[in-house]
Amino acid sequence: MPIASINPTSGETVKTFEALSKAQIEEKLQRASETFRTYRQTSFVERAAMMTRAAEILETEKRELARIMPLEMGKPIKGAVGEAEKCAWVCRYYAETAQQHLADMLVETDAAKSFIKFQPLGPVLAVMPWNFPFWQVFRFAAPALMAGNVGLLKHASNVTQCALAIEDIFRRAGFPEGSFQTLLVGSDAVEAILKDRRVAAATLTGSEPAGRSVAAIAGGQVKKTVLELGGSDPFIVMPSANLEQAVTTAVKARTINNGQSCIAAKRFIVKREIYAEFEQSFVEQMQALKVGDPMEEATEIGPLATEQILKDVDDQVRTSVAAGAIVLTGGKKLERAGNFYEPTVLTSIPKDSPAYSEEIFGPVALLFSVNDIDEAIQLANDTTFGLGASAWTNDDAERTRFIENLEAGCVFINGMVASDPRLPFGGIKNSGYGRELAEFGIREFVNIKTVSISK
Ligand code: NAP
Repeated sequence: MPIASINPTSGETVKTFEALSKAQIEEKLQRASETFRTYRQTSFVERAAMMTRAAEILETEKRELARIMPLEMGKPIKGAVGEAEKCAWVCRYYAETAQQHLADMLVETDAAKSFIKFQPLGPVLAVMPWNFPFWQVFRFAAPALMAGNVGLLKHASNVTQCALAIEDIFRRAGFPEGSFQTLLVGSDAVEAILKDRRVAAATLTGSEPAGRSVAAIAGGQVKKTVLELGGSDPFIVMPSANLEQAVTTAVKARTINNGQSCIAAKRFIVKREIYAEFEQSFVEQMQALKVGDPMEEATEIGPLATEQILKDVDDQVRTSVAAGAIVLTGGKKLERAGNFYEPTVLTSIPKDSPAYSEEIFGPVALLFSVNDIDEAIQLANDTTFGLGASAWTNDDAERTRFIENLEAGCVFINGMVASDPRLPFGGIKNSGYGRELAEFGIREFVNIKTVSISK
């Protein structure tokens, strides 16, 4: 079956691609395996020069590269340019720090000398999502390649042009043929690739079902995985917070990338005495968002990435409303071509509705009012996910309680959850395991080899 790039703004098919044949996959796996043998011998200095060159290409060509993203998945162009810049940042970050993160570590023992050595694992399969079609790939590829691994990218089927552009960036940056290859395949091909003895490990960013499936296959092969899955992040606001700033950030945190971010704030938990004011201001700002063509600079909300996602969001909202949720604004598709959904705010959300327990991947915010901090923490943790959490307070005791008790891979106080190359990123519970970014990210795909030399 051909793989299609469909413009979510118009619904038109932009380009189609033939999936790789078995023989072509075999050729790419063999090339990855052979390249690894030589590439692993390159020095950090050589790898850093190529990674810096990749950063330069991203910086110089960010405007042209950025245009591919809205074309294939609907992200507003401003965010797409920012995404290209962030990819350059992660390339530079690892070009500058990989050697230090992976330097031998001396350990005092009874032996004459003991130390820990970090060595690459081999070809790593990266199964990636469409929502940050450049960033998700670079945040895997920059550390993996700097550590001496080679990469095999199985990108989401709707962002093939992004995948090919990324492969081209690494090629032009001077990385040897075979060190970073795009595999144009559907998700049905992942099992055989992952089972191939030449593939050493896998990382998947995507939905929980995809993560479970890849982890089960990899587990059967005793291969390491990193999983970055979904989230239903809480955003808690207490009376001591700067309410105006909290509301503005809340709207941004929910609607960034058209509401399709794993770390988007999805559940807004507000203490009762400030709830009414929060609700009114939040709804007004959601209504004021500029929805439209993602290629236009002023657009704040573009179309959802695919027709299926539009249908899923619409189903989740309708079912939740039928169960008793109240629509404060939005709540339906827009009457126009493309996958547009109105910025939506729901409240009075019943526990047994999809909005309460599922991740909604679109511009749909859920508002909750709570009596005290205990209730806020209990509600925030009442989810199977555990990716990020944002808490707004200027009270030291409350701050400590949030940091200690929120079940999440990260807690941001008085700010929105965001990834940063210098900080580890990842989740707990059904949001996945393992970490990306910082020194933790580059140490995921290495053999931590213990060396001990006796007298
Ligand atoms: P998805 O449907 O799971 O797809 C992600 C990738 O997995 C795609 O390349 C997809 O290929 C592949 N895939 C799907 N099912 C598979 C299977 N059974 N076996 C092997 N591969 C499979 O997710 P998505 O809709 O693209 O992305 C949205 C999800 O990603 C959300 O849940 C979001 O929260 C999560 N996400 C998490 C993070 C994080 O860092 N934690 C970041 C971004 C997104 P095809 O396209 O060919 O189906």
